[in-house]
Amino acid sequence: MIYLDYQATTPLAPEVVAAMAPWLGYKFANPHAPYTAGREAAAAIEVARGQVMRALGREAGQLAFTGSATEALNWAIKGSIGHGGRDEVVTIATEHAAVLDTVEWLGRTHRVTVLPVDAEGLVDLDAVRAAVGPRTALVAAMLVNNEIGVIQPVAEIAAIAHAAGARMLCDAVQGLGRVAIPEGPDMIAVSAHKVHGPKGIGALWMAEGVEPAPLIHGGGQELGLRSGTLSPALCVGFGAAARLLDERARADHRHVETLWRAARAQLADWTLNGSAEQRYHGNLNVRRDGLDAARLLADLRGLALSLGSACASGSGRPSHVLRALGIGDRAARSSIRIGFGRYTTADELHEALARLDAAAKAQ
Ligand code: PLP
Repeated sequence: MIYLDYQATTPLAPEVVAAMAPWLGYKFANPHAPYTAGREAAAAIEVARGQVMRALGREAGQLAFTGSATEALNWAIKGSIGHGGRDEVVTIATEHAAVLDTVEWLGRTHRVTVLPVDAEGLVDLDAVRAAVGPRTALVAAMLVNNEIGVIQPVAEIAAIAHAAGARMLCDAVQGLGRVAIPEGPDMIAVSAHKVHGPKGIGALWMAEGVEPAPLIHGGGQELGLRSGTLSPALCVGFGAAARLLDERARADHRHVETLWRAARAQLADWTLNGSAEQRYHGNLNVRRDGLDAARLLADLRGLALSLGSACASGSGRPSHVLRALGIGDRAARSSIRIGFGRYTTADELHEALARLDAAAKAQ
């Protein structure tokens, strides 16, 4: 299989597997237990916490591990409603379902505003300014879009939120380790499996003094903010993945840029969806007039590629992101997302795109 679906998930780094192995075997103690083996597990979790904080570029504040970024986003959004007596959430139409569906659910009882984007996929800062006001508790904006790779102006959005006394939440799931996470957000949600770590663990970073109300109640773990026994194996795996992001930042970046240039040249007559400039280059979302992308991918055995948002794949939902850009249903159905990164070789990318291009032109 040639794997080109890095936005859906990423291959586990061998270093991560090795770091996790003891914690899946003989190091089984509960990290919240008071005896030596428990304390050893707790210490390993603290090391991992520091590694994830470093990858986020944060020295202050606190980081709580969660079961996924979806949980972290739900917690940050639901737990911020009522903050400062405010009851409104403002977000953007191209956010991940973990944000949009949570906001929509809140909309049954609270005021919510979902801002449009332009044809490039970018939000208009004047529209953010106009939407955020004295009732706004939270503004949620993602850094790198999972479907089209477009980068929102997160620092500017955070400044607008703060000027109105609101909190700002950044979904940095696709940005972590790939683009610098700007200063400004009060909360940042991330996920291990998008950065060569294990599935089943995410985290919410909170700036000093920012504590959303708990979503999960119980044993009082994670400073009483997120109950539930932590998995040392998953935390250590996330930590190891984060350490690798730091160590390999320049090499990973150079590699992705090389692959991007080659892929763009090879698919030069395809149309790019979303901004070419404000974009992470490990995400090439392209379309061809008249193409039936679903049929094409079904015919291309041995290639792992995605049609739209992998998070929503299987749901049959049309891409809300492409629609928000003003891309009609027919053009959306002719779109393919090609996602590559650290372990993609230039040769396999070339082979995959040659097959894809030939099959598309033969359709
Ligand atoms: N946010 C973005 C931008 C994503 O791409 C994803 C996963 O695809 C999520 C949130 C949810 O992350 P998780 O799989 O950890 O729940």
